[in-house]
Amino acid sequence: MKKIAILYMCTGQYLKLWPGFFESAEKYLLKQSEVHYFVFTDADHLDGEENNPCVHRIFQKPEPWPYTTLKRFDIFLRIEDELKAFDYIYFFNANCEFRVPITEEMILPRREKHEKMVFVLHPCFFTWYNFQFPYDRNPHSKAFIPMGLGREYVCGGINGGESKAYLKFCHTLQKRIQKDCDHGVMALWHDESHINWYAMAHPGYRLLDSSYAYFESFPLDIPIYIFIRAKSHYFDVDTFKKDPPKSQLTPREEKFNEMSAKLAHKIQRRMPWLPRRLNK
Ligand code: UDP
Repeated sequence: MKKIAILYMCTGQYLKLWPGFFESAEKYLLKQSEVHYFVFTDADHLDGEENNPCVHRIFQKPEPWPYTTLKRFDIFLRIEDELKAFDYIYFFNANCEFRVPITEEMILPRREKHEKMVFVLHPCFFTWYNFQFPYDRNPHSKAFIPMGLGREYVCGGINGGESKAYLKFCHTLQKRIQKDCDHGVMALWHDESHINWYAMAHPGYRLLDSSYAYFESFPLDIPIYIFIRAKSHYFDVDTFKKDPPKSQLTPREEKFNEMSAKLAHKIQRRMPWLPRRLNK
C-alpha cells in the first residue's frame, strides 16, 4: 500500500475550512493508500484528530497576509525527516473539497511517463495565451519569467509528487523565496509565482486540468473533481488581505510591463489563431 502525506495549512480564520476538507478527504481521497494529514495550525484542537491517528497537528504561529502561504516551504521542511518516510507528498489549499472519488490513477505522477511532480492548470487562465499569464515579470524577483517563456499557468493551491522530488521542490523554492525576502522583493502572486517558475524550469511533470481545481461558485461546463470553496462564506477575506506588501518597481519597469500587457492584448486581438492551451 502506498503511503501518502497530505500537507495542509490552516492558521487563524482558515481553521474554519478544515472540517469540510477533512470529512471530504476521508470519504473520497486516495482510498487505496495510507493517507496521513500533516496540519500546520495555531489551533489547539482539530475536528476528528481524537479518532484518527493519521491526523498530525503541528503548531504554526499565524502571520499577516501573505507570509503563511509565501513561507510554506520553510514550514513544510520543518518536518522533512517525517515526510521522507512517505512515497508521495501532496499539498492542498485549505478551501479544497472533494465531492467525487479521487483515485491514485487520477492524480499520482505516472512512472511510465517519467513524471515525478504534479501541477494543476489554474482555473482562471487555462484559455489564455502564455504572454497573458500573470507570471511575475519583475526581473528582480526569483519568480521572474520573461515574456514568451512558460507553457501553462498552474495554480498554487494543489500540487504534489514523489516525496524525493517534492522535497527537492520545497528546498529550491524555500531558498529562492528567502533570497527575494532578503532583497525586499515580493513576487506578484507570492508562492504561486515561484511555483510557476519551478514548473517552467522543470518540465516533465504531470499536468492535471482545471477539473482538479475549480470554483464551486462559478460552475462551468466541465466535470469538477476538486472544488475550491469560496473563502468569503467562512470569513471576511478582503479585510484580511487588505494592503499586502508589494515589490517596488522602477518607473522604467512599470512602463515595460504596461507596454508588454498592451502588446499582448493587441496580439491576442489580431492573431486569434495563435496556439493556446485549453483545459484538455
Ligand atoms: N493560509 C493560512 N493562514 C493564513 C493565510 C493562508 O493557513 O493566514 C494558507 C491556507 O492553507 C490557504 C493557503 O495558505 O489555503 C493560501 O492562501 P489563500 O487560499 O488565501 O490564497 P489564494 O489561493 O486565495 O491566493
